[in-house]
Amino acid sequence: MRTTPPFAETEGPAMTEARPTPTHTPMTQFRSAEGQLLVNGVPLTRLAVRVGQTPFYAYDRSLLDARVAQLRAALPSEIKLHYAMKANPMPALVGHMVRLVDGIDVASAGELQVALDAGADPKEISFAGPGKREQELLQAVAAGILINVESFRELPILAAAQDALGLPARVAVRVNPDFELKSSGMKMGGGPKQFGVDAEDVPRLLAEIGNAGLAFEGFHLFAGSQNLRPEAIVEAQQKSYALAVRLAEHAPTAVRFLNLGGGFGIPYFPGETPLDLAPIGDNLGAIVAAARQQLPEAEIVIELGRYLVGEAGIYVARVVDKKVSRGQIYLVTDGGLHHHLSASGNFGQVIRKNYPAAIGNRIEGSMRETVSVVGPLCTPLDLLADKMSLPAAEPGDLVVVYQSGAYGASASPQRFLGHPAVAEVLV
Ligand SMILES: *Cc1c(COP(=O)(O)O)cnc(C)c1O
Repeated sequence: MRTTPPFAETEGPAMTEARPTPTHTPMTQFRSAEGQLLVNGVPLTRLAVRVGQTPFYAYDRSLLDARVAQLRAALPSEIKLHYAMKANPMPALVGHMVRLVDGIDVASAGELQVALDAGADPKEISFAGPGKREQELLQAVAAGILINVESFRELPILAAAQDALGLPARVAVRVNPDFELKSSGMKMGGGPKQFGVDAEDVPRLLAEIGNAGLAFEGFHLFAGSQNLRPEAIVEAQQKSYALAVRLAEHAPTAVRFLNLGGGFGIPYFPGETPLDLAPIGDNLGAIVAAARQQLPEAEIVIELGRYLVGEAGIYVARVVDKKVSRGQIYLVTDGGLHHHLSASGNFGQVIRKNYPAAIGNRIEGSMRETVSVVGPLCTPLDLLADKMSLPAAEPGDLVVVYQSGAYGASASPQRFLGHPAVAEVLV
């Protein structure tokens, strides 16, 4: 008697091997030796033993140093570099960045605490974010940091804090500009926004700052994030500068601080290439020269998160199981979207694409397979790599997701499904 297969081979799901997705620009920042990825010289399998668990994030100090050095070389020496620590708030990493950059940008009193603990100079910390609570504003004045005002509501709270503490409330105005950062991954200025004060309302806000006797220092403009087109960044910085010069006419005192934002992107997906810093450096040179005449007391700052730390970090998960389902190979790992939401494609991406990945203990594996790398969660969204060509891997091997130093652990729903938390290590 003939048994009927559950799926007739002619009309059922395909049994053929999956076709791989397009390939990425090779990741060259991490070197390898004897088939092992090296994190600041430490072979990955040894590092995994040292950490004591998988999954983990590893951040490479030498790559953080190199990135800041590369920026300093490309930008005019007058430009101050701030680290926006929401990209990666790991305390040891923030401590490392404090020694490399000129200031730290925080987005909550919680981040402020980490920045102060890490040894950041309060004079060089600035605090932006909509919906700052009264308590947070008090903490900020007590710490002596610069507060980027984003609402008229903040002014009387700051004036009261100033009186109560007998300390100046140092403020800059975060402006919601009348333009957008073109081709930015995430737009954060232009049109109606919850961030900052609309440019057309800023003259009135400046008058109130003067009346309240707050210590005005300058302006903060941030138009967007994850941009790989230098001409778009140049245009946003030119427009931001011009807007600041216009608004300065309404300021109660001279502008001493001008934060022109950042938005520098890193390549994540096939077809993306690293940002060309040369035109951005040239343009900032022209802005510095113009500011000598127009805003002679202003220190010009750019604030970067992802660009400073994103490429210095990897996420490492161990293969727990290797399954074949109707011709498709699945590497099931102990890590996934609960640790690395952005690599799973669920942190603001419109169309899911793979982050670059590797088998960290078989970097030069000659036998390749097309595999999907998934996590242990009970949802098909728990996908770290979809139909990617990788060296053939087995349970016990270490999957590496590159470009993972920013918006990783702290931007992921770690409690979802109750799996163990991810470890983080600075090497
Ligand atoms: C998120 C944020 C940043 C950092 O953005 P990146 O894309 O990580 O460089 C900088 N400034 C402000 C105001 C932000 O909200």
